[in-house]
Amino acid sequence: MTAPLIQIRDVSKKYDVGRPALSKIDLDVRTGEALAVLGRSGSGKSTLLNLIAGLDKPSEGAVIVDGLRVDEMSEAALARYRRERIGMVFQFFNLLDDLTVDDNVMLPAQLAGMAAGTARKRAAGLLESLGIARHAKAYPGRLSGGERQRVAVARALMNRPALLLADEPTGALDSASAADVRELLVELNRNGQTILLVTHDVALARSCTTRTIELLDGRIFRDERVTVQ
Ligand code: ADP
Ligand code: MG
Repeated sequence: MTAPLIQIRDVSKKYDVGRPALSKIDLDVRTGEALAVLGRSGSGKSTLLNLIAGLDKPSEGAVIVDGLRVDEMSEAALARYRRERIGMVFQFFNLLDDLTVDDNVMLPAQLAGMAAGTARKRAAGLLESLGIARHAKAYPGRLSGGERQRVAVARALMNRPALLLADEPTGALDSASAADVRELLVELNRNGQTILLVTHDVALARSCTTRTIELLDGRIFRDERVTVQ
């Protein structure tokens, strides 16, 4: 059997003040899973996501993704890891408003050294498959929240990440747009994309994931598989 895509081993994260944000977490996520991390505000969800994304380091323990010790990487290795293996989607989209939609989507590939023509073609294909090709030359500010999140997902997929990470991806959307983004994530996972999603929205977790874990005070206190309808 192949190793899990994500292996979290005895991970704790302590900040200078307060109780630990994470305490002795162990977690395996296999390729092809869609895992939702649930939990109240302050329970450690974003901290866990940031450790996996290499945006922060654990105080103790090991974070292994795609066979790489993320917690031991240099800054240069981390930049490359984030660019090439991880796609990230955020609550507030984090698009560059001065760039057109297709330039936003192309950017990660260009930073990774892909030729502009090839990158443009791949971006166009992604925008097409995500149903937003007609907005390719628009600026993000002209789009609805749901459309912007689709652009952000396209950008996250540009470098064919092993892992798609999302922190409250529907948190800033109206219910129709949220449903839309939910369906998109389900579809991506059906096509094999491994997804790890942080949310405090139980409905989102249930509708778009195959497994949920719940954090409470920095510990995993529930881990269950759910059926996707
Ligand atoms: P969640 O995403 O579940 O709301 P977080 O992972 O953001 O929770 O935070 C977990 C705990 O760690 C909280 O008590 C929070 O106040 C604390 N925390 C998060 N980031 C920092 C930081 N940079 N410095 C100090 N404490 C932090
Ligand atoms: Mg958070």
